[in-house]
Amino acid sequence: MGRLFLITLFASLVQVTSAQQVFHRMTLLMGSRFDLTVVAANEEEADVFLDTAIAEITRIERLISSWDPNSQTSAINANAGIKPIKVNKELFDLITRSIAISELTDGAFDISYASMDLIWKFDGSMIQMPTAEEVKASVEMVGFEKIILDSGKQTVFLSQKGMKIGFGAIGKGYAADKAKQLLMGKGAIAGIINASGDMNTWGKKPDGSDWKVAITNPMNKNIAFAELPLKQGAVVTSGDYEKFVEFDKVRYSHIINPQTGYPATGIISVTVFAPSAELADALATSVFVMGKEVGIDRINQLPNVACIIIDDQGNIHKSEHIKINEE
Ligand code: ADP
Ligand code: MG
Repeated sequence: MGRLFLITLFASLVQVTSAQQVFHRMTLLMGSRFDLTVVAANEEEADVFLDTAIAEITRIERLISSWDPNSQTSAINANAGIKPIKVNKELFDLITRSIAISELTDGAFDISYASMDLIWKFDGSMIQMPTAEEVKASVEMVGFEKIILDSGKQTVFLSQKGMKIGFGAIGKGYAADKAKQLLMGKGAIAGIINASGDMNTWGKKPDGSDWKVAITNPMNKNIAFAELPLKQGAVVTSGDYEKFVEFDKVRYSHIINPQTGYPATGIISVTVFAPSAELADALATSVFVMGKEVGIDRINQLPNVACIIIDDQGNIHKSEHIKINEE
């Protein structure tokens, strides 16, 4: 008995003294840069964690990508107005949660925005503004209430021909959450999943301090606008400083107002703090569309959610709960 106790004590001493270190890896996934950070005892262990995270994000990309013609999402889109498509429970649940966020935001967030891809392109290929008629014709194909779910059969049906769904505003957040959960389950004690500014952290640094996240100043990307400690949660920034088109000196962001079919205006960056990266990601996009007054009002009604908005005049607006992240 005494010996067993000694052995256990020794084992736990070894654990405490084996130095934990921080390991990083940068990779391109989902068309974006992912910066992965884990705390591990050695490089070997870290590599296992990092490979696991990358495999998980790659798996999710295959499921939700609307670019990959073989994904279930593409099958849903190809059958718009034709027939319901049976999908994995995981995709069915993601679509269900996306529709719930549409309801929460009065349709500011809408995965069926995606048919607007035909007229608003942010890859440099657009040479002129779409006409009002083109916008009107495209926006008629948008509407989350036209996404028909059958939970018994686990099918998704886009009820109107030409409709399309896309997870551009929630997919990276979802992937960051899943990668984090998986690594926690595998015993990674701490880390950060940073999907191009969609950040999710857990645990603490090896020195016992909290992870700090830098929020970029959209006016000058080289200057961090704020550095905040982040405990066990997510922070996401949506900005129009990376993807936009410009006509007659007006900047059109890649976030589309699903009601009008035109890009959202008035805000240049939204940072949302939330318990999950998925929710933070979707809400950051939503606040862009809702505008600063309605956006802040809506965020104030949600528990454990906070936001910082920078408007197109460079003014900063904060929600009520923002103090929780500042102490
Ligand atoms: P980023 O991808 O730069 O982090 P967001 O998370 O805000 O930015 O996502 C913007 C992307 O979401 C757009 O590029 C587009 O694919 C998609 N999107 C645009 N408008 C909407 C909308 N109203 N609702 C849902 N998704 C949208
Ligand atoms: Mg988003």
